[in-house]
Parts: sequence; C-alpha cells; structure tokens
Amino acid sequence: MVTAERQPKVACPDCGLVQRLPVVQRRHIAECRRCARLLAGPATGRIDAPLALAVAALLLLIPGTIEPLLSVASHGAARTCWLSSGIAGLWGEGFAPLAVIVGAFCLALPYAYLAALIAVLAGLRLGVRAYLGPAFRWIMRLRPWMMLEIFLVGCFVAYSRLRLVVGVQVLAGGWCLMAATGALLLALTQLDERTVWEVLPVRPTRHRGRDAGWRTAWGVWPYGHDGRDRAIACTACELLVTGARASDPCPRCGATLHDRKPYAFRVTASLVAAGFLLYIPANALPVLTLVSFGHEQSNTIITGVLELMRNRLWPLALIVFLASIVVPLLKLCGLTWMLLATFQGSSRALIARTRLYRIIDTIGSWSNIDVFVAAVLVALLQFGAIAQARAGGGLTAFAAVVILTMTATRTFDTRLMWDASRGG
Ligand SMILES: [Zn+2]
Ligand SMILES: [Zn+2]
Repeated sequence: MVTAERQPKVACPDCGLVQRLPVVQRRHIAECRRCARLLAGPATGRIDAPLALAVAALLLLIPGTIEPLLSVASHGAARTCWLSSGIAGLWGEGFAPLAVIVGAFCLALPYAYLAALIAVLAGLRLGVRAYLGPAFRWIMRLRPWMMLEIFLVGCFVAYSRLRLVVGVQVLAGGWCLMAATGALLLALTQLDERTVWEVLPVRPTRHRGRDAGWRTAWGVWPYGHDGRDRAIACTACELLVTGARASDPCPRCGATLHDRKPYAFRVTASLVAAGFLLYIPANALPVLTLVSFGHEQSNTIITGVLELMRNRLWPLALIVFLASIVVPLLKLCGLTWMLLATFQGSSRALIARTRLYRIIDTIGSWSNIDVFVAAVLVALLQFGAIAQARAGGGLTAFAAVVILTMTATRTFDTRLMWDASRGG
C-alpha cells in the first residue's frame, strides 16, 4: 500500500508552495492547501480510450476539412464553404494576418495536435519512451491555441445569422467537423496528464553552467539567495527537480527550468498595455460589413451583439457578448490588477486573484469566436449587391487583442504575487 510519506513532493504551479501530494482516492481530487489549485485527480491510467478517440477525431477531421461545411442559396445563386474558404476569403480581402490566424488555429494546429497526441499515446502503448517527454510538453503547450471547438461555435453563430437572410444547409463536411470536435473533446476528458507524465522516464539530472540567477519582476531575486542548488518546479510537467539550477533542462520534459518565469512582470505589463491600446480600435472600428440589396450595414463588436438580440437569438447574443466583450475586458483588467498588486507587494485577495487568473487562462481563447464568425460569413455571403459580407479593420485589432491577452496570461507568473506578498 502507498503511504502518504512515500508520495512525491510537488510545488503548486500557482502559488509555489511545496507540499507532499496526498494519496488520491477514486472520485477524489487533491488541491493546493494554500490556493486551492487542483494538483491531481485520481490517476486514471487510461491510455487506450484517449488514443482511440484521438484517432477517431483525426479520421473525422479529414473529411471535415476536404468536404464542404455549409451551403447557402439566394435568388437562384448558390455558394458552398469549406474550412479553407474562410481563410481564402480573408486573404483575398487583404486580411492576411487574420487568414493566417484562422488557418493556424482551426486547420494546422488541430492536425498537428491530434497527430502528436496519437504519436505520444501510441508510443506509450508500445513501450517507446524516447522523446515522448518533450513531445507531450509541446502538446500541452499547443492546447490553448488549438481552437477547433471555438471555430465550430463560430460556424453555429454564422449559420444562425445566415438563416435570417438566405437559405442555408449543413453539408457532410459540417457534420464530420462536429463529430471530429466531439471526439476530440471526449479524448481530452479521458486524457489524464498525470498518468502520462508518471510513466515517462526522469533522466539523471545533468547540471550545466553557472546559475543564471533568480529573475523576478524586478530582474533579480529580492529576498536573498545563498547560491546553493535547490528544488525547482518545472512549469511544463510540474516535476519538482531537486538539486537543480536555473536554466537546467527538466530531466523529464526538457523544458528550461526557472524559479519563476523569466521577465514575467515586464513582458506581461508590455503585452497588457498593447492590449489596452488595441482594445480601442477593436471596439470602435467595424468588424463586419453586411450588404443586403444594396443597403450596407457596418457592425462593430457591440452592434453585432445588438443585432443578434434584435433577431431574438438570445443564447447566441449572450455567448458573443461574454466571449467578445466581457472576456477581453476581464483579461485586461484582471491582469492589470494582478500586476499592480504584485508591484505593491499586496497580500490582499491573493486567493481571489489566483482564482481569477485560472478563470481567464481557461476561457481566454473563446474570444476568437467573432473572428471565426467573420471568416465563415465572408466565405459564404458573396452574392454581389444582393447579400455580401466584408471583414472590417476592427477585426484585425480585435484578433490582436485576443492573441496579446492570451500570451500575457501565459507569460505572467502567479507565484510572483505570492512572493511579493511575503516580501511586503
Ligand atoms: Zn497553491
Ligand atoms: Zn518538466
């Protein structure tokens, strides 16, 4: 029987507290005793189920991308839309950065993610262990940027809007894409990261070079450093590496070890400032122009939500309002609060701030819905003066805000808030 003393020590990724992981029983979870971060669920040991579902998702994704998703008909003319049509439509209208974003997040990354996940799980199944640590680290890193399910919701919003003006039909590719997304999400619910990490080998630690220094918000570690080797938690696989030095590679996943994410405060502050600046044109400029029988209507983010409300599409209006208006503001204001509190060394609402960080980290990518809606509408609504959709300049600024805030969330290190409060 495994006793609590034999359980491994872990460092909470959110507050940095080193603690012994309790034995996690079935249907139970282990949370950090200081900030309530989920440290571990019961290790499911499942490899076959997520592997089978990932293979199914990849097989369904192929027809989902090569078959047409939707078709529209208006006044005797018809158009069909493939996943690639939105990318080509945006590119053709001179929105190359948006085309690249949609192509990367909805086409390239889902394929790369699924192929890598299948390779790693199949490798584990066959007993191969070499290179799987770095590969699984990259899979985890890619996850927030792989937005198949968000694209699907974007398609649904576009479908609902199109039904108001033209006849629209879901085609084979659309059904396959839905099934692929369902299989992918099921695979992710079956995938237990801890099960995978625990079977991957930890190579003997090799130190290299001199200590690169403890870098924090202010460039150097402000609480004294005795120069001894110490335990550093890997931010990728959460292994607590004892006797490690900053900039050593993690012996399990190969990530570079740092006591705290390097330059986290300055990089995050710069990204948040840029996000606030771009938030103004993102909301002031039109994101989409719809032409209907010669009548042009330019929608900003907020008027797009009002349009959905006017047409009594309440659930969609709520989704787009939350994703496009509430979430970006929550990310910008939340990160600003965290940065200011860290700078002041405040210990107020530390747990609330850490919880808010977890929320914005989880929901951040959903703001891209509006970009995907525009991609589908631009691809489908091309009937000249009768019905036409054009992307607007606000959309590029909006997509930039989403990417900047997602990156800022990843560059920030919540442990700095806890360090600063101890020092203050
Ligand atoms: Zn914690
Ligand atoms: Zn690691």
